[in-house]
Amino acid sequence: MNIDVALIEKVVKKVLNEVDSSCPADDYTYGIFETMDDAIEASFKAQKEYMHYSMADRQKFVEGIREVVCDKANLDYMSTLAVEESGMGAVEYKKQKNVLAAMKSPGVEDLVTEALSGDDGLTLIEYCPFGVIGAIAPTTNPTETVICNSIAMLAGGNSVVFSPHPRSKGVSIWLIKKLNAKLEELGAPRNLIVTVKEPSIENTNIMMNHPKVRMLVATGGPGIVKAVMSTGKKAIGAGAGNPPVVVDETADIEKAARDIVNGCSFDNNLPCIAEKECIAVDQIADYLIFNMKNNGAYEVKDPAVIEQLVELVTNDRKKPNVNFVGKSAQYILDKVGIKVGPEVKVIIMEAPKDHPFVQIELMMPILPIVRVPNVDEAIDFAVEVEHGNRHTAMMHSRNVEKLSRMAKEIETTIFVKNGPSYAGIGVGGMGCTTFTIAGPTGEGLTSAKSFCRKRRCVLQDGFHIRMK
Ligand code: NAD
Repeated sequence: MNIDVALIEKVVKKVLNEVDSSCPADDYTYGIFETMDDAIEASFKAQKEYMHYSMADRQKFVEGIREVVCDKANLDYMSTLAVEESGMGAVEYKKQKNVLAAMKSPGVEDLVTEALSGDDGLTLIEYCPFGVIGAIAPTTNPTETVICNSIAMLAGGNSVVFSPHPRSKGVSIWLIKKLNAKLEELGAPRNLIVTVKEPSIENTNIMMNHPKVRMLVATGGPGIVKAVMSTGKKAIGAGAGNPPVVVDETADIEKAARDIVNGCSFDNNLPCIAEKECIAVDQIADYLIFNMKNNGAYEVKDPAVIEQLVELVTNDRKKPNVNFVGKSAQYILDKVGIKVGPEVKVIIMEAPKDHPFVQIELMMPILPIVRVPNVDEAIDFAVEVEHGNRHTAMMHSRNVEKLSRMAKEIETTIFVKNGPSYAGIGVGGMGCTTFTIAGPTGEGLTSAKSFCRKRRCVLQDGFHIRMK
């Protein structure tokens, strides 16, 4: 009889833990380390072990991550904690985003091998791991990013060291511990997903420069994207956007209004893909505003109140005031003395092209509307105000020629036609999801293969079966 000693040890440890959970069987930290160096060393060791696991194992771990996230108690807890800790977003939206990240981030099925066969034999091109990946997560989607990055990176055979935003460290650490506990239960090497107790810019810098970190992935603003791209390592940058939505005179205006309010208010406008300014052709602008108001928009007309809002939610008219990022429309209006109910999801106002609300990526449910004489001017201005981020844009129109013109000229990673922005990340639109959308470095919507190296394996003169 074969005795699996390791399995017996594991069962004994588990039983002991269950008997007295205050007395852990060893000092396993479930992926949380005092120093970044220790975290990286543990991750390096884990990845080396992970190389001996099968693709079926990898997929089992992906399913394990999905199970942890979709467990109702876990989902409620982390979605609530993310909002409380970061002060951004809304619990119901966080739940939707977390489930989306868990269920629609592809697993190992994303790694499709290429094969070339012919007179000279057979060549395989496979997606292989980089090793240890350093992943920097934003405060706007803290758990969502940990979820989709963990799924994709582990599916690719890597381990991952996270550098969460200090404003969302508690929820990030909680989730990383939960994921490690589940992975261990499923038989994965310990420490495939790690971080440090005190995430900080210093720790991120140590991670970015550590020789055992082979790839860097930054999901955040321009500063951190530039930082990872300057390290000399393979880097993926998922940076800022300022997504415009254009509405022309041929659009289904009622649907456009509904979609824009829904997309713009999704998690209080935190997603980098969410509608940040609307550019409407004069002929339909009034009717569009009328329909937006019927779907949860509150229009501010008084220039003095608009000025008050600018003072409140921006710093020197250049950057969003972090105290208002991801806050609800109701909360923001209250601060300028306007009382509304929770049915108000978005604050709208007409604004000139150079208005700070039009130019700045605000990440709060304030949607300026720029009125233009015709669709061509709308498209030209959308291209300008997207600031070359090449991130996301939307257009509502039935004019195929103009839809094509905007799609071509704006060159964004995501272009949604006749739908809300979130259709671009797989909510009511075809395709998988991610919360790491890599415009600057060109991977687009990242998935397991984005975090892999392509390697070629050549067999000369064999395994081609078409001819003798
Ligand atoms: P942020 O740039 O302030 O922070 C992002 C991460 O980088 C955090 O973990 C932060 O601690 C770290 N960081 C920032 N500057 C750093 C530095 N100099 N050195 C070391 N670490 C540094 O962004 P945020 O406010 O957390 O997130 C919002 C931004 O992220 C928006 O601009 C949004 O568009 C963008 N974003 C992009 C995507 C995408 O997929 N393209 C997804 C989510 C958010």
